[in-house]
Amino acid sequence: MDELLKVEDINVYYGSIHAIKDVSFHVDEGEIVTMIGANGAGKTTTMHTISGLLRSETGKIVYDGKTISKMEPHKIVSLGLAQCPEGRRVFSGLSVSENLEMGAYSRKDGKDAIAKDFDMVYGLFPRLKERKNQPAGTLSGGEQQMLAIARALMGKPKMLLLDEPSMGLSPLLVKEIFRIIETINKDQGVTVLLVEQNAKMALNIADRGYVLETGNVTMEGKASDLANDPAVKNAYLGGA
Ligand code: ATP
Repeated sequence: MDELLKVEDINVYYGSIHAIKDVSFHVDEGEIVTMIGANGAGKTTTMHTISGLLRSETGKIVYDGKTISKMEPHKIVSLGLAQCPEGRRVFSGLSVSENLEMGAYSRKDGKDAIAKDFDMVYGLFPRLKERKNQPAGTLSGGEQQMLAIARALMGKPKMLLLDEPSMGLSPLLVKEIFRIIETINKDQGVTVLLVEQNAKMALNIADRGYVLETGNVTMEGKASDLANDPAVKNAYLGGA
């Protein structure tokens, strides 16, 4: 399979805090890759470095054959690499459908293609269709999370960076979100890098995974192998 994203030897600091230490990993086209790790391990920092919000002092990041480590975030998005950030960053004063329109803002493939994707997104998230005229700020937390993912999809990304999509959701909604991520990958062909604290669910849908501990990649492998690894079980799967 072709390598779509390659992160090579990155180091990120917040002042004197060395948050990311010589981190390298890759995501092949068509894969779901998960990065699991405890609070403060550096998962969000890694995502922000890929999307151009933070800079690495070393190494490089290559996406779709282009070095993106010095590019502006909007340029990176325009290459088809979309980030769906942690938390629920929707435009709360705008309706659901207006939020989705914002997601398609920079597309140049015409109204018909965008209308098709409205249908696709409403098919994936029927709850959003029911609430299309409702102000986003009045949606439940889980619905806002869905809207954030749906909005990212409206940009027609080739690859999606998802930062803790299950955060703060009820177990039932967590299941639904993970099912939708699988569908986005399998049916829409979107490559996914998924950062999660919910290691069990993440390893369940991922092809491969990386374990991040205090800024270092300490393990990597097939998701099924990681899920059966005693150290991973002990640290991230509740010892089950
Ligand atoms: P969580 O699962 O809790 O979101 P994370 O794995 O995403 O954690 P990061 O948010 O990437 O972790 O943080 C990695 C380290 O960098 C932590 O020690 C954190 O305290 C530190 N850090 C993050 N943002 C800043 C900042 N703006 N200034 C200083 N330190 C920061």
